[in-house]
Amino acid sequence: MTVTKECLSAPVKPRDFGFFIDGVWHHGREMYERSSPSHNQSVTRIACCTTQDLNAAVAAARTAFDRGNWTQQPGAERAEVLSRTATLLRERKDEIAYWEVLENGKPLSQAKCEVDHAIACFETAAGATRLLHGSTFNTLGPSLFGMVLREPIGVVGLITPWNFPFMILCERLPFILASGCTVVVKPAEVTSATTLLMADILADAGLPKGVYNVVTGSGSVIGQSMAEHPDIDMLSFTGSTKVGRSCIKASAESNLKKLGLELGGKNPIIVCGDSNLDDAADAVAFGVSFNTGQCCVSTSRLIVDQSVADDFEQRVSEKMAKIRVGNPFDPETQIGAITTDAQYKVILDYIDKGKAEGAVLLCGGHQIVRERERYIAPTLFTHVTPDMTIARDEIFGPVLSSFRFKTVEEAIQLANDTVYGLAASVWTQDISKAFRVTRRVKAGRFWVNTIMSGGPETPIGGFRQSGWGREAGLAGVEEYTQLKTVHIETDKRSHWIAS
Ligand code: NAD
Repeated sequence: MTVTKECLSAPVKPRDFGFFIDGVWHHGREMYERSSPSHNQSVTRIACCTTQDLNAAVAAARTAFDRGNWTQQPGAERAEVLSRTATLLRERKDEIAYWEVLENGKPLSQAKCEVDHAIACFETAAGATRLLHGSTFNTLGPSLFGMVLREPIGVVGLITPWNFPFMILCERLPFILASGCTVVVKPAEVTSATTLLMADILADAGLPKGVYNVVTGSGSVIGQSMAEHPDIDMLSFTGSTKVGRSCIKASAESNLKKLGLELGGKNPIIVCGDSNLDDAADAVAFGVSFNTGQCCVSTSRLIVDQSVADDFEQRVSEKMAKIRVGNPFDPETQIGAITTDAQYKVILDYIDKGKAEGAVLLCGGHQIVRERERYIAPTLFTHVTPDMTIARDEIFGPVLSSFRFKTVEEAIQLANDTVYGLAASVWTQDISKAFRVTRRVKAGRFWVNTIMSGGPETPIGGFRQSGWGREAGLAGVEEYTQLKTVHIETDKRSHWIAS
């Protein structure tokens, strides 16, 4: 489908999606109706799968794994399927972006960039497929030879959130497939469409049936059952730290499945007095407002040098006030609607708490009331103290808390004053200072004089309560493998028992 100018509005009636098991579409379940956050109009109808559907999907993934026509295929052949998928994604980019906008509320221009990133993920994983290998040891003595084989871990369960439905799927799926695993995916109930579109794309690219399965439905039923499932070997979960914790419990109480966890963050940006303040202010405004702040690596804590703080906060607030908020199909729009009613309320409650606990509201802090839509103006609180709720909780919205520091040591302490460790950034023109801060701040991703940059070549993941394991890059493929150590004796055995 090509999205022409005329159809850049919500569809006249919602599109029905089935669910996908063993290469076959299934229908006939109770349906969940998703309304577009920007249009407040029904756009999709998604099946509420049952645990029986999940069991069927896991059985299909297990059979496909044991059949070996994906798992045992030469890396080069798996690479071809992943490369063909990248080509098909390129052809269907407009269509994928369109449905992503309708369910999530993000601007179309951004959704298209996310599909470009997804394509890059498939291309990177295709290359990684051919490079994946074990190792050998010829250092164990004259007759003993050691080999470490790398094998796919098995059936992977993949649970994704609603903030970047397609991009997060594609930062994991191609790497899972590259490893030779088979997969059952459960997308967030409000943003399932693009994960379902992926099923036909992979089939057209030649992925054998049963390797990619999608069950849709609620987190509390389908997600929880996946975490507890005795025949899922690994669960890759991206979402809140609270649910991540419940997945650990479910794994411990079921089959001790391996877990990959990508969880919450409360990400600091340290701005030193010697930095280019205009560049840094632009990065801060972008970092907190991109994807309406519904972003795990969102810049949510500004830690700014006291000597420039008044000026800098003013610059940030002026830039935030200029951000274009509105209709996601308007090419001028920079941020769209908040994705769910629940999240909209959560963000507004945090803004109220910030005001009540004594932070100073410099910019935003209000809804942008338009008929039927859920927009929040990018918001900056200054004079925030570390004990305030907005300083500690992940808000997951366009709300920035500003703190001030006198020494670099103090800035590092403020940056690390959180249970999370997902991402962080420092702005300075002093290279020694930049390295010092980089090494001391606890974060899985760190940026110096840039923000949210990078590509699928490099691994992503968190320190502390932001998660376990890494996704993307070679490390991301290896995460879905396990090592088998083999020893081969080439000499006759010297006997333990005397003959
Ligand atoms: P969430 O934890 O509520 O839901 C995430 C997914 O888990 C959804 O598919 C949901 O249906 C499912 N789920 C819900 N309850 C479950 C259960 N009991 N067992 C198993 N699965 C269950 O999170 P969310 O509200 O969708 O997303 C926002 C959160 O995700 C934020 O905390 C954010 O930081 C985090 N996030 C992290 C990353 C990252 O890469 N670190 C990326 C995106 C989002």
